[in-house]
Amino acid sequence: MGSSCRTALYPGTFDPPTFGHVDIIRRGAAMFDELVVAVGENPAKKPLLTVAARMELLRELAGGLGTVRVESYEGLTVDYAARCGATVLLRGLRSVTDFDYESRLALTNRALTGVETVFVPADAQYAFISGSLVRDVARLGGDITSMVPACVAEAVRAAMKRR
Ligand code: ADP
Repeated sequence: MGSSCRTALYPGTFDPPTFGHVDIIRRGAAMFDELVVAVGENPAKKPLLTVAARMELLRELAGGLGTVRVESYEGLTVDYAARCGATVLLRGLRSVTDFDYESRLALTNRALTGVETVFVPADAQYAFISGSLVRDVARLGGDITSMVPACVAEAVRAAMKRR
């Protein structure tokens, strides 16, 4: 990998991966030479899907995009970005609420290591979708198939049953 190869890191919780995430992955893959999609492990949170399950789903969803790698990490996102050679963080923006939080996060990350953040606006048809909303709807027995791909809906249903 030469210095002309631009690697971006798309970090997130992806609990579960949604159509919104898939859209950002596709569009990010078209913008950078290499895109690392990384599931952030937060031991303090009690996730619905295991990190391994989220990675497997993301790999399935990114299938066919040859320049996308799926990984996981613990600790600071900027440290992981340095480890995987990413000079850019990719984030999706759904709303002004996202912008308020994301802009402060981006400035913090740039202050830490100089890493830049590139924002991609959510596609209008997916802008309402969030992992927490999907989990809530699924928990209450609602239909999540308009918000997540079929393989994710199946994994969420199975995880709910195990609870
Ligand atoms: P985090 O806990 O890091 O916010 P998420 O999995 O909720 O993890 O989101 C990861 C990234 O994907 C964030 O940049 C978020 O704004 C973006 N994102 C989440 N949902 C959508 C969506 N529906 N459309 C576009 N981007 C999204």
